[in-house]
Parts: sequence; C-alpha cells; structure tokens
Amino acid sequence: MDLSTLYRQVIMDNYKNPKNKGLKKTDKYHFVHLNNPSCGDDMNVEILIENGRVVEVYHDGKGCSICCSSASVMSETLKDKSVEEARELIYDFYELVKGEEPKHEEELGEAIAYAGVKDFPARIKCATLAWKAIEKAIDEVNKDE
Ligand code: ZN
Repeated sequence: MDLSTLYRQVIMDNYKNPKNKGLKKTDKYHFVHLNNPSCGDDMNVEILIENGRVVEVYHDGKGCSICCSSASVMSETLKDKSVEEARELIYDFYELVKGEEPKHEEELGEAIAYAGVKDFPARIKCATLAWKAIEKAIDEVNKDE
C-alpha cells in the first residue's frame, strides 16, 4: 500500500466513524463555532481543560470529508496533551498542510494523513477548520483564568 492510499484510508475511516463526535452542551465545556464559507463547512467544538491539560474534546459539524474527518483526528490528537503541547501540535498541523515539515511528526499521529492537502490549496481551510476552532477555544479558556 502506498502512502497516499494509506492517508486516504485514515481520512475515510475518520469520516465514516468519527471519534469524539457529538456535543455535551453543558457548562463544563467551552464551546466554539466556526465556519468556512468557501466550502460550506460548519464546525462546533467543545473542550474541557483541567490543570493545564486538555482532558476532553468533542466536535460536531457539517461539511466535506476533509473537514469532518479532520475534526475527529484533531480530537484524538489533542486529548490528554498539555495546553502547550496542544498549541504546538495545532501549529504543526498548520505547517503540515502548507507543505512544511512538522516539528513533532510522531505526536501528530494520524494527522500526518493531511500532508497531501498541500497539493489542494482550496482544501487547506477545510482541513484546518476544527483545529482553528479548538485553538480559539483554548485561547478563550486561558483568557478567562
Ligand atoms: Zn470543506
């Protein structure tokens, strides 16, 4: 199996069987909504941060397979990371989809599958929407404290 086939499979698996999908809608979680008008993607995320760690991440949204699968991968990648690690991985993911070398390739895990997005610049916003939403959520939570 070549790498692009493997990557496509990760994306389709996460699209068909998304992890951490569905919002809890309680005060325990910090909620952020973002959309991507260029593709019609619409993304909601929830995060629970405790003692400087990302404890839980949920997402729910509508959109293309790149956007929805990426939300699932994002939630798995950032869970159980410290806030600093999460920020670094979010930044790494932005670099990856632009075609740059990520600093923490191993920690990115399945998110590496989006490396091919660099060849489709119009889809970069799809791939990063959930990551932008969670970045905003982390910023807002940290501002409140
Ligand atoms: Zn999209």
